[in-house]
Amino acid sequence: MEYRSLGSSGLMVSALSFGTWVTFGDQVQEDTARACMIAAREAGVNFFDTAEVYAEGRAEEVMGGIIEKEGWKRSDLVIATKLFWGGKGPNDRGLSRKHIMEGMDASLDRMHLDYADLVYCHRPDPRTPIEETVWAMSDLVRNGLAFYWGTSEWSAQQIMEAWAIARREHLVPPTMEQPQYNMFTRDRVEHEYARLYEEFGLGTTIWSPLAGGLLTGKYNRGIPEGTRVSLAGYQWLRPGYEGDEATARVAKVEKLGAVAKDLGCTMAQLGVAWCLKNPRVSTVILGASKVEQLIENLGALELVPRLDAAVMERIEGILGNKPVMERDWR
Ligand code: NDP
Repeated sequence: MEYRSLGSSGLMVSALSFGTWVTFGDQVQEDTARACMIAAREAGVNFFDTAEVYAEGRAEEVMGGIIEKEGWKRSDLVIATKLFWGGKGPNDRGLSRKHIMEGMDASLDRMHLDYADLVYCHRPDPRTPIEETVWAMSDLVRNGLAFYWGTSEWSAQQIMEAWAIARREHLVPPTMEQPQYNMFTRDRVEHEYARLYEEFGLGTTIWSPLAGGLLTGKYNRGIPEGTRVSLAGYQWLRPGYEGDEATARVAKVEKLGAVAKDLGCTMAQLGVAWCLKNPRVSTVILGASKVEQLIENLGALELVPRLDAAVMERIEGILGNKPVMERDWR
C-alpha cells in the first residue's frame, strides 16, 4: 500500500480506502461487510469512511462492530464520519452547533469509539452561518472528539470563507474536502479547488471513483439485476445510469475498455488508477458490495506506474472533458 499525506497535515492515509455507502447496514450482510474490511486491512488500507446518514446510522454500527470484534489497534486506523442528515426532526439535520455536537456524540456511540480521526460537514448548510459551523467543528477537534475536520461538496468559496473565519478567530481550519472525482466528474478537483491546494494545503478524500459502478463497464448493456441501481430505495440513482447523458458516458466506457484491454487490466482498475494518478488526491475511497470487487479494485495501485503520458493522452482523447484552466486559455 502507498500512504499519502492528507493535504499539508501530518496525517498519513492509505492511497486506497474503503467506504460504506449503500452497502453497510443495507445492501450487504454483516459477513460480507466483515470480509471486505478484513481484505482492506490485509492490503494495508487504514482509512475507512462512513456517515451518520448511511443506512440511517446502521453503517456506523456495522463498521464500529467489526472494528471492535476484530480488535484492531485504534492507532492503526483512520476513521472518518460525516454529519448533516442525522434524522427527521428540525434540529437533527444541517450544520447548527446543536446538531454538530449531538450528531457527533450519537455517531461515536454507534461506532463504539471515543473519537473519529476525521469528521466532515457532509454538505454546505445555507441555513446556518458558516461562522457557527466553523466554531462547532473547531470545538469538536479541541474537545478531542475528532482530530481533523473537513467538508464535503463545498464550493471553493465556502471553504475559503471557513478558512478566513478560522484564521480570524484563531480556530481550527478545515483540513480536507470529500468531493466526487472520477473520469466523468473532474471540475472541482482539477479546476475549482486549484488555489486551495497551494494556499491552504487542502487534502482530498475522493468519492465514487467508478461513478457508482458505471466505469466498470457493467452498465454497457443496461441495468443488471443486483446492482445498487436495482435496489429498493435507490431508484433515485437511475437517471445517472440511463437516459442521454448516461448513454454518452457508456459510449466512452466502451472505448476505455479497449485501453484497459491493451493494458491487461480491468475497466474498474483503470478507473481507480486514473484517480490515483492525480497527486492532489489524498485517498480514493473505494466502494464494493462483494469482496471480489474490492480485491480487484485494490489491484489498481500496481497499474498506476503504467499510466504514462501516452496512455493518459489516449484516455484524455476519449474523455474529451479536461477542465480548462484560466491560465491555459489566456
Ligand atoms: P464507486 O464509484 O467505486 O462505486 C462502487 C460500486 O460500484 C460498488 O458498490 C459496486 O456496486 C460497484 N463496483 C465496484 N467495484 C466493482 C467491480 N470491480 N466490478 C463490478 N462492480 C463494481 O464508489 P461509491 O459510489 O461506492 O463511493 C465510495 C465511497 O465514497 C462510499 O462508500 C462512501 O463512503 C463515499 N461517498 C461519499 C459521498 C459524499 O457525499 N461525501 C457520496 C458517495 C459516496 P454494485 O453493488 O452495484 O455492484
